[in-house]
Amino acid sequence: MTQDLPRFRLHPHVYRLDLFEQQNGTCSCCAQLRDWKYRGPFYAVQKPDYLCPWCIADGSAARRYEGQFNDELSIEGWEPDPSASANTFNAELIAEVCDRTPGYLAWQQAQWLVHCGQPCQFIAYVGAAEVEGLRSELAGDLQQLDDTYVQALSADGNPTGYLFRCLQCGTHRLHTDGT
Ligand SMILES: [Zn+2]
Ligand SMILES: [Zn+2]
Repeated sequence: MTQDLPRFRLHPHVYRLDLFEQQNGTCSCCAQLRDWKYRGPFYAVQKPDYLCPWCIADGSAARRYEGQFNDELSIEGWEPDPSASANTFNAELIAEVCDRTPGYLAWQQAQWLVHCGQPCQFIAYVGAAEVEGLRSELAGDLQQLDDTYVQALSADGNPTGYLFRCLQCGTHRLHTDGT
């Protein structure tokens, strides 16, 4: 049954994370009986009661509720000024992240990391052990963090690590936050 679920290029393990729960219900957007309910972030004025993964994947939920699953400002390096030279992403990539990719649950404003000029895939919530195993790849992201903080990271605690992976070159990246 899982094989019928829509897949998200930028969020490949989404059904194994805490972003959907298996709960029967009628999707507020497509009115179909569904069994996976989205429980991640959705920035919209009017919050739907039940969103199914299909309505996220095809963009219909974002259109209908004029909402976003990820805020543009959360995309690393994105500038609100359309003429900003820092904006190397095309509108299609921005729309994929914001309108058709589930978010993830963070303590603070989430960040969607970028590598090779493209938004990365969200891989997992991670703790100190996983970060240790990827230390050399994550060196750039770890640089400004102090060691005690990194040691305290946990996948389901506070602070939390958020692991991303570049679709182009496979390099991992790390975002962290806490209360
Ligand atoms: Zn739906
Ligand atoms: Zn890369």
